[in-house]
Amino acid sequence: MNNEMEKEEKRYIKKAEGKIQESEVQLAAALAHEIRNPLTTVKGFMELLKPYLIEIGKEQYAQIAIDEINRANDLIYEFLNASKPGINKKTEIDLNTLIQEMKISFENQANIKNINLSVNLCPGEPAIYGDLNKIKQVLTNLIKNALEAFEEAHAGEGMVCLTAKSNSRKTQIIIEDNGPGMTEETISRLFLPFYTTKEKGTGIGLSICRKIIEEHKGSIKVHSRLSQGSVFTIELPMA
Ligand code: ADP
Repeated sequence: MNNEMEKEEKRYIKKAEGKIQESEVQLAAALAHEIRNPLTTVKGFMELLKPYLIEIGKEQYAQIAIDEINRANDLIYEFLNASKPGINKKTEIDLNTLIQEMKISFENQANIKNINLSVNLCPGEPAIYGDLNKIKQVLTNLIKNALEAFEEAHAGEGMVCLTAKSNSRKTQIIIEDNGPGMTEETISRLFLPFYTTKEKGTGIGLSICRKIIEEHKGSIKVHSRLSQGSVFTIELPMA
């Protein structure tokens, strides 16, 4: 009898979980739709501005802005629909182009904070095979963290450097800063979801970064020393 009741209870819980998941997916889809609407408007205006930017030789800005809006659209959709199976969107990604595009995206932010943002490209045209949006999501998180590390510290002598390296088997992307560095406690916990030392932080950035890199059969490592800075090294297989 007890066994029957237990089975019935389990069936009930499973059904309820299914219903909750279903309504979460519906809410996520509705929210994604609502957030994408204003992004589409901004994208439309960027398209309109494009000819004027071409005139003054800045067409690259328009293209990057449009690409970034597309990326935001994709990310929102993917994030909110995480319970749905993902579509494989992997392509060959040129490492040097990727690093340069990341620099352009963050140049303004770095300038405002008086931080020197530099790049070291690697010889040849090494490529990785991956989902461009997701790899950009990882680099965005790491560069944002590096720039944010200077918030209360000594901006001015601040430096963030993006380096691309490759040999015949693997590629590396290194994000280095000479910011305040991290304590041993932070180093041991920073990849845990919701671990943050920032007042307005979410602590999910690095846990998502690690998940994405592992999905690409790569690794992400950190080396950091207090008052000297931090180095994040991403290793990915060659395309
Ligand atoms: P969030 O940025 O919302 O705090 P993250 O998961 O991206 O979440 O980062 C977790 C923590 O790792 C940060 O709160 C910070 O303490 C530390 N951290 C990450 N990158 C750096 C860096 N470049 N310099 C110093 N601390 C860092």
